[in-house]
Amino acid sequence: MVTLYDTTLRDGTQREGMSLSVDDKLRIAARLDDLGVHYIEGGFPGSNPKDIEFFERAKSLSLATAKISAFGTTCRKGVAASEDEGLRTLLDTGCEALCIFGKSWDVHVTDALHATLDENLRMVRDSVAHLKAGGRTVFFDAEHFFDGYAANAGYALSVCRAAAEAGADAVVLCDTNGGTLPQAVARVVREVAGALPGVTLGIHAHNDGACAVANSLVAIDAGCTHVQGTANGYGERAGNADLMAIIAGLVLKMGDDCVSADQLRLLTEVSHFIAETANIAPNPHQPYVGASAFAHKGGVHASAAARLPEAYEHIDPARVGNLARVVVSELAGRASLTMKAAELGIDLAGDQATVARVLDGIKDLEHKGYSFETADASLEVMLKKELGTYEPFFTLESFRCLMEKREDGKVTTEATVKIHVGGKRFIATAEGNGPVNALDGALRIAIGKFYPALSAIELSDFKVRVLDESKGTGAVTRVLIESEDGEKSWGTVGVSENIIEASWEALVDSIEFGLSHPRAES
Ligand SMILES: [Zn+2]
Repeated sequence: MVTLYDTTLRDGTQREGMSLSVDDKLRIAARLDDLGVHYIEGGFPGSNPKDIEFFERAKSLSLATAKISAFGTTCRKGVAASEDEGLRTLLDTGCEALCIFGKSWDVHVTDALHATLDENLRMVRDSVAHLKAGGRTVFFDAEHFFDGYAANAGYALSVCRAAAEAGADAVVLCDTNGGTLPQAVARVVREVAGALPGVTLGIHAHNDGACAVANSLVAIDAGCTHVQGTANGYGERAGNADLMAIIAGLVLKMGDDCVSADQLRLLTEVSHFIAETANIAPNPHQPYVGASAFAHKGGVHASAAARLPEAYEHIDPARVGNLARVVVSELAGRASLTMKAAELGIDLAGDQATVARVLDGIKDLEHKGYSFETADASLEVMLKKELGTYEPFFTLESFRCLMEKREDGKVTTEATVKIHVGGKRFIATAEGNGPVNALDGALRIAIGKFYPALSAIELSDFKVRVLDESKGTGAVTRVLIESEDGEKSWGTVGVSENIIEASWEALVDSIEFGLSHPRAES
């Protein structure tokens, strides 16, 4: 069985424009665990204080399969491993697994590190041995391995040997520049496996030559049993190896049981969840998990595909959760909607007419730009409206936002809401650091005394995306709000041509959901 090592939260976040909060990272880690990934690299604690907070809070995640791993580098030149601050930081994370990188290309050792080749071997050996003595699983990433092997195979091998002899649980061959072709990867991995019998080898590929997934799969074929990649191939430049495609390829085409059939069916859902959490539009043409990955274009082909799918589809899409996925989307089937509703405590099983109506409603909303993948709470509000069980906690008469920028550079925002609740009319005004904050404040003043549970509800995250005009409508703004009450968190969505209106919609859903699911103790 191949070991799956996900580095979305570390190498993946090197992608330009990608930024994850600690909460985002924790949510993503939980979903990667559902998928059955074995190791989740949470970050580089030596380089980023946010990552230290992640490792602290990750201790309270209850993970079924995955172990959290921390990333770092070997000890510095001229410093004993036991005296090295970076290694101490790694051990201090308390992670069961640690991954360190070291140089394996001779010219990088002499010209970038300004160390002797022997000193570099000492750094690798001592660092791995020191972390092993700390009782951890230790992976060694041999940086620039394939370029280093091409330049000086003997030295690149001696770095791997040093790590293995010091006790590394896997020696990971990295194609750091990402330009190696599959035929070279296959040949080199075979040679390394022959030269280092009994050593567990891994592969870490980047996608600069558009071969990262191919390189990972041929490396496994040639003897690697550990593979590193990122969700959806996120990573710097052209990205890392897409772990989604690797997992599907391993299970469906190479007969590996790295994840179970049930876990594999979560592939599409988890991929889209991570994309939405990272505020990156899911790529519809992404292999296996894209919305168009199994979409046949009209006419003869589509009807033939329906009669004899195996003649037109390389796999049954249901096996990776595409088409029949649980995530409610344009492609969702009746069974998956019923299942999702049951998860939300709504019984739709006997009501096919409602299911059909809700599916139409979802399709329509998704066409307008809504996305429910991270907005379960909005989905529940929508289902209740369809079922006629929705009772609003308040009704809006109107709201108004004023923004003022003054000569001295100060910006102030003020919002006024007129609300009806319990048969009475309330007008409240609040200031805020922005329109959403001010609206939230005014709404709380207006309805707070009717609903004391409101004070526990906090908006924890706010994501905005301008959607393009490709869907035939004008450009619209989608707002995703994440809320929490100290016990649970939930997501809501709003869409409008006007960002404040979109925010209001997501805000109202958030409060409606929070008030209808109060905390156990309140
Ligand atoms: Zn990398």
